[in-house]
Amino acid sequence: MKLDTVELFQNEGYTVPVNGEIDYSDVDYFGDRPFRTARVAGKAENRGGVVRLSLDVTIGVETACARCLKPLRFEKEAKVRETLVRRSGETDDASESYTVVDGRSLDLYDVVLSAVLLDIDMVFLCREDCRGLCPVCGADLNEGMCDCGKTNQEDR
Ligand SMILES: [Zn+2]
Ligand SMILES: [Zn+2]
Repeated sequence: MKLDTVELFQNEGYTVPVNGEIDYSDVDYFGDRPFRTARVAGKAENRGGVVRLSLDVTIGVETACARCLKPLRFEKEAKVRETLVRRSGETDDASESYTVVDGRSLDLYDVVLSAVLLDIDMVFLCREDCRGLCPVCGADLNEGMCDCGKTNQEDR
């Protein structure tokens, strides 16, 4: 998904709507491929000579709970708020997050992926307090204690 930036940089007040989908199912994330399609909606706008990209992203995630291995499927939201420049150093505001557009268009693939990765968990859990599986018998401890657990408690 590419954003044509030629006219954006040339014309103050120019707005380009962005609307589409990007497939991230090939992305390797800690040995897993949890990402699916991201829906991307927003715009790029030249206001007073400064080009800003503002996108709302909803990405599908399909993986398994890191503790109990139950399949997980959910959607994760992210936001892209970037200033686009044609050369690095074009903006002197160090607090701003900016992307250098090399050429006539900007590929939104990496921009959207970085926004998603910025704010996503490293491990996915079915719930915060998932008890996981018993390391001895493999029972799902969310569904109750197995006999191994009882034995350990008696030992103490
Ligand atoms: Zn779990
Ligand atoms: Zn057990």
